[in-house]
Order: sequence, then C-alpha cells, then structure tokens
Amino acid sequence: TKQIYTFAEGNMNMRELLGGKGANLAEMTNLGIPVPHGFTITTAACHDFQHQHVLSQGLQAELATALSTLAATTGKRFDDPVAPLLVSVRSGAPISMPGMMDTILNIGLNDTTVDTLAELTQNPRFAYDSYRRLLAMFGNVVYGIPEQRFDDILTTVKQAQGYESDLDLTTADLQEIVTQFKGLYHDTDAGVFPQSPKAQLEAAITAVFASWDNHRARVYRAQNHIADTLGTAVNVCEMVFGNAGCDSGTGVAFTRDPATGAHALFGEYLMNAQGEDVVSGVRTPQPVAALQESLPAVYDQLVAIANKLETHYRDMQDLEFTIEHGHLFLLQARAGKRTTAAALQIACDQVDEGLITRDEALMRLDPEALSDMLHPEFDPTILAAATPLATGLPASPGAAAGQVYFTAQAAKEAADAGKKVILVRQDTSPEDIDGMIASAAIVTARGGMTSHAAVVARGMGATAVVGVQALSVKDDQATIGDHQLQAGDWLSVDGASGHLYLGELPLVATGVQNSLTTFLNWAKDRATMAVYANADTPKDLQRALEFGADGVGLTRTEHMFFQPERLIEMRRMILADTPQARQAPLAALEKMQEDDFYHIYKLAGTKSVTIRLLDPPLHEFLPHDDREIQAVAKQLGMTRTDLTARVAALKEVNPMLGHRGDRLAVTFPEIYQMQVRALMHAVVRLDHEGLTVTPHIMIPLTNTEAEMVAMRDLVQKVVTTIAAGNRLNVHAEIGTMVETPRACVTASAIAHGADFFSFGTNDLTQLTFAYSRDDVASFLPAYRQQGLIKADPFQHIDQAGVGALMQLAIAGGRQTKPELPIGVCGEVGGDPQSVAFFNTLGVNYVSCSPYRVPVARLAAAQAAI
Ligand code: ADP
Ligand code: MG
Ligand code: MG
Repeated sequence: TKQIYTFAEGNMNMRELLGGKGANLAEMTNLGIPVPHGFTITTAACHDFQHQHVLSQGLQAELATALSTLAATTGKRFDDPVAPLLVSVRSGAPISMPGMMDTILNIGLNDTTVDTLAELTQNPRFAYDSYRRLLAMFGNVVYGIPEQRFDDILTTVKQAQGYESDLDLTTADLQEIVTQFKGLYHDTDAGVFPQSPKAQLEAAITAVFASWDNHRARVYRAQNHIADTLGTAVNVCEMVFGNAGCDSGTGVAFTRDPATGAHALFGEYLMNAQGEDVVSGVRTPQPVAALQESLPAVYDQLVAIANKLETHYRDMQDLEFTIEHGHLFLLQARAGKRTTAAALQIACDQVDEGLITRDEALMRLDPEALSDMLHPEFDPTILAAATPLATGLPASPGAAAGQVYFTAQAAKEAADAGKKVILVRQDTSPEDIDGMIASAAIVTARGGMTSHAAVVARGMGATAVVGVQALSVKDDQATIGDHQLQAGDWLSVDGASGHLYLGELPLVATGVQNSLTTFLNWAKDRATMAVYANADTPKDLQRALEFGADGVGLTRTEHMFFQPERLIEMRRMILADTPQARQAPLAALEKMQEDDFYHIYKLAGTKSVTIRLLDPPLHEFLPHDDREIQAVAKQLGMTRTDLTARVAALKEVNPMLGHRGDRLAVTFPEIYQMQVRALMHAVVRLDHEGLTVTPHIMIPLTNTEAEMVAMRDLVQKVVTTIAAGNRLNVHAEIGTMVETPRACVTASAIAHGADFFSFGTNDLTQLTFAYSRDDVASFLPAYRQQGLIKADPFQHIDQAGVGALMQLAIAGGRQTKPELPIGVCGEVGGDPQSVAFFNTLGVNYVSCSPYRVPVARLAAAQAAI
C-alpha cells in the first residue's frame, strides 16, 4: 500500500492516515491557500516502523519518488549547487499533541549548501542562522544532545559580545557557533553531523517515528486519553524562511481569542525569526494586530485566509504562518485549543452567525469541562484592597493560591505530598508536562499568549500567567522586582487579570454568565432526561436553581439535624426511654423541620422537591469518645455511666447494614410521623400563601412490598389527617429509593406501593459489589492497577452489574405502572458517561450536587443527540 501522499493528494478526511497536520496541509493546498510543497508519510508507515525499527525498503523507494516529485514542483533538489532543496521534517499524529513530538527545520543544509544559500539570498547571516538551528534541532532530536548544551554555547557567545538579543549575532558569530555546535556531535554514535541531506532526512524521519514513544508524549497521551496505538505521520515540507530578513517573520494566529472567545483575529508574531521562536518564548512576540501597520497587505491576506478556513472547517482555527520576503505561507491549521469560557462563547456566537447548528454547538463542549466555568475566583472585595506584586499576560483564566516551586519535578513532588502548587518558571517546555499537570497554576517570566505554558494550561483548564517581565527564575530562587521568592512561599495567581499577589488570597464561587445560561437552555430543550439537584438546605437549593436545576431529586433530612441546637433534641429523642419522654424533643424537632421544609418548598416554587425521610443509623447522632460523652451527659442531665451504656447499646457492628433507613420507622414510627407532620404543616402554610405544593416523600432502603405498603400507610395516614384538619385538598406522592439488590429484583411488587422510584446508586453499588464505600480505598487502587476493574464504580456506574440490576428494576416497576417516574440520585447522577447510560435505560431524571447540574445537563443533551 501507498505510504506517501503529496499534499495535493490528501484531504481533511484522511487524518487517521495522514495525521491532523498532514490532512490539513493537504486540505489547505486544495483550497488554494499558499502552503509550501511537500508530502506526508502515513501513520501506517509508523506502525511498520514500530515493529521493524528501521525504514523499510518499500518506504525508502517511495521516499526517492516523492523527492523527485518535490524537485519537479519546486525546481529544487538536495545538494543542488544552484537551487538546493531544504525541508522540514514534522511529526503529526491523528490527534493534536502540541509540542509533544519533534520537528526538525532546515534539513538539506551542510557545509556546502549553506554557502550556496548565502550566495543565493545574498544573505550569509541568514544562511548560517538556519544552519545553526538545524545543527541544534537535529542534534537534540536525532542524538538526544540536551538543548541546554546548544543554548549554553549561544549564550556564551552573546555574553562575550555583550549582545541583548539573538538578532545581534553577526555572520561571523554564527559561523563560530556552527563550529562549536558541530563539536557537540563528537560524543554521539556518528561522531559528526551527517553532511548528506538524504542521510539527514532519513535520520530525521526515523527520529520522529521514534518520538511517538518518548516519555513526554506518553505522559501527554495518558493524561488526554489518547490511544498509544495511533502512531504519528511525518510531514516533509519545503522550507520557507521567516528569518530571511526584516520583511520576513513567523507567527501563530487564532481565528478567535482562545481565552475569551472574542471574534477577532488573535495571535502573535516575530519578525526575522524561525519556527519555534514564537512558541518557545525565547523572545517576547508582538500581537498580530501590529502586522496591520508593518505589512498591511499580508495582514489583510491573513485575515481573509483565517475567515475562509473558519468557514470551511466550521470551527475556530489555530494557524501557523510564515512570511518570507513579504509572501505569506500557511504551515498549519487545526481546531484551536481554547478555555471552556471561550469554547462556550464561540459555540454560542457560531450558532448566532449561522455557522453551526445548536446540536453541533452542544456537542462542541466537554460536559466535564463545564464545571470549569463554575470555578472560584478571588474574593472581589479582598482583591480590590490587595496590591499586585507583579503582572503578566492573563493566559488562562481561573484563580489559584498555592506554594511556589521552580522545577517541574519539585512541583510534582510537592503536589504528591498534598500541597497546592504554583509552578514558577523562566519558561516551560514540553519536558515540564508532569509538573504542569500537578500544578494549580503556572507562572512564567517569558513568552506570550501562545507560548507553550499558555497553550498547555488552557488545554488543562489550569490557571496561567505568562510573560511576567518583573520575574526572574534561577535554580531554586526567584525574584519579582526586588522581592525574593523561595520555594514553598505562598503566591496567589489571577488568570483573568494576570496579577500575582504575595500570600494566600481567599477564593469565592463565581456566578453564572449569560452565555452559559443560553447554552444550558439549549441543552435543556434538547435533552429528554430532566436534571434535578440534591439539595439539603435552602442555600444548596438556591445554587442549584441558579445552575438551572429542574427540581430537587433528593433532600437528605438528616443533614438538618447536625446543627448544635437540633443535635441536642435529636439526642434527647434517641436516648428517651419511653414514647412519652420522646414527645418533647420530637415536638422541638418538628418545629425546626417545618421551617426547613417551608423555606425549601417556597424557594422551589412550582418545581418538584423530593424529601427523603431519615436514613442513617441513629448512633451516628450520638457522642463517640469519653470527652464528648461527658459533655453531652451534662447537657442532657444524664449520668456518664448511663449515657455510655446507651451509646454502647446502640452501637452496631455493620451500621451500613444495620438499623437504618425505613428500619428506623419500623421500630420508631414516631420519627417518620414527625417528619411528615412537619412537611405537611409547611405545605399548609404555603397553601395559605397561595402556593400549592405536591410533596414528594421518599422512603429509603425499602426491600419488600410489605415494607413499602406499611411505610406508605404510615405516611399517608399523617398526610390525610393534616390535610383533612386544614380542609386542604393535597395529594402526596409517596415513593421509594431503590438501593438494594432485592428491591431491584422484586421491583414489580414494590411498585404496587410506590408512586415513584429513585435509584440510590451509592448504596446500590455498595451492596451489589459488597464494597463498603468508606473502605474501598484500601483495595480498589490495586484492582485498578491490576486491571481487575476498569473504573471506580462509585464514580462511573458499573453498567454490566449495577446497571443490569437497574434495568431489571425499571422493567419490573413499569410492568406494574407503565408511567412510573424513575430517577437516579447519587454521585454518578452528575457523571457524564453514567448520564449517557441512564438515558439509554429510559430514566426520567438524574439528580446530582448543584455544581454538577450544568455538567449533567449537557451530558443529557449529548446523550439525546
Ligand atoms: P508542532 O507540531 O510542534 O507545532 P511543527 O511541525 O508545526 O511543530 O513545526 C514547528 C515550527 O516550525 C512551527 O512554527 C512551524 O510553523 C515551523 N515550520 C515547520 N515547517 C516549516 C517550513 N517548511 N518552513 C518554515 N517553517 C516551518
Ligand atoms: Mg505546529
Ligand atoms: Mg442510600
């Protein structure tokens, strides 16, 4: 099979075979956009290489043909004394991995062609500048000579001459540098830099294929869930020169702002520079808008191409361009990485512009990433009073406070030790990936908005401030202005403003922006499943409503009992010897619960709220150690011995399997009766205020039909009595949690007594696996390491086991009551992949914590598309 495609032969749909870069170079070529000539070696050839570790005969033959075709189209060939061909060799996987693999520029230069190029261009400085770059890149990528050794030589020459910038280097300096660079090859296998362009090309291709398996590429793939089997393509591309003089340059541009989503060409460039100079942060570049003044025709052409590409790809594009003597060339186009805020803005704008449909917009965002939007920011009042220590470019939004570390490794170690870490660097390189992942924020002294640090941080959703001029980092110390910063010092980083503050500033939660509201409304229209919130207090509910919850799927009443003034009544009630002694504390609790219910229902208005009656084992409310027992005994007017004895009597060996859930009501019916009375009194009050409420009352942990019917009768009796007493025509929905395997298996019977089901996936998972949720940490990691279990079933629903039980329960429930409403509450109700699964089961709603509501909402919409 064919292993090489010219750019003219490929297209954007061939990304699997040609990699993203190759497929898009081909697509742009065919769109008539100026792209240098070249060809792509396929990912299939890479697979081949992974097995044989050499370039096959077949590939070498195709390579020879491709080179002669390139010679025919460009009029240049390797080692030609008049028109020498120079190329870049560029990696490009099917999924973009920015900066993770290798590229070598200026292949084809050697001791002879460098002078040909000098003569041809009348620019020896340029020729030797290109040569030293080749020597450094080739030495690093092919022979693994550390970049630092090349940099050191460059720096030494610059310092000796007293230069500020690379641009000050003269031809003679560059020739000296070339000689010294060649010296570094003495330690390699070959001992010399290969002079044959063909040998250079083959070695470069081999190295790029091999770079698929280098450490940083593997870490990046693991982090981004990219398959190790994809392999990389290799692009061989005729060189164009951004370092050919002052009418030349190189840059990167985004068709929209990748941090905010604003619709304007955004980017940076450097005049008289090549390739990586912009991204690496070696020199701080100029904003692309400045090009409008220096080279207006080029700027207009770039804008036109940007628009054309965005319309063609129907998505925001990240472009690499080079200007050679005033001629513009595109070297790369790909869907641009962006912050979640930008992704949201762009998706909404593109719908308004008619570029994409709402469904496409909904598919563009990762549900999990939506939670970024809800990330905290620094407390604005404290921020207003704080003085920034320094300011850089706001490269990736968010706010983080943490302890500073100056190397990726130190950052990672500190993070592993449980610290919040800010990675502070002169600049970052792909080798720093481990440390960047571990950090809450990244700060660099050099580089622009498209520097490596900025791009990677935005991709990870980490806060970043780059190009902080006042910062200088050396070894284990940094200075900001005249302030000394030591490893471990606290720093607060504001990614929205670019400000840095000494110390730890407090964070507060952010509100919901307009575009998010619009977007979530689209999601709501599209989803077939509703999204409810688990909310125990009016404050939780308030937040959930702001995030667009359709109702409350779970109010855990026990959380209301842990406030001190309630806890004491609760204890008094539990410890009472006789039903009579229980009356007073129950009455006190009832009053407090009534207020809670009143406020929750009032806030929810016409939205449905499901109240779950008391669930946890009673002894959870009791004091545990001697000191606590002593204090509580005094509070309740009991002797210490008596209290100790009572606590001991209530203690259980397996509380999770013990006296909890509706078992409490079988032995102490007064508790549930009290709760329902409180609820009904709240309903009566609200009715007087003109709000008609249909309470949903949920029984936890039901196992049998008889149990369900008994609980239902108990609840219904209270409802009827209070309704009648207040001449109120109210109907209560009485349903059950489905959270034991037995309940799932006998769901058709239980449904006779239940108006609705709600899966308690936490308990159901616990009981299905016989894994105690509180104890899994001691063995689950080993299961995962050994591949015995794919994912933590408390994070992602176990479809084959727990999911099958749910399926059985749904079928059973709806056999008895075809319209039975069914929900899911529990941690996985907010997990996108679990939500998608529940959608296939025909669940009516999921209920999750308020912050997960937007995530679940989008996941539900995507499941329906
Ligand atoms: P990456 O995948 O890391 O972005 P690239 O292969 O795109 O690596 O190349 C790195 C840099 O070199 C980019 O700035 C790119 O524009 C530049 N470059 C690559 N090939 C050429 C070429 N043929 N002529 C000029 N510049 C090039
Ligand atoms: Mg690139
Ligand atoms: Mg439960």
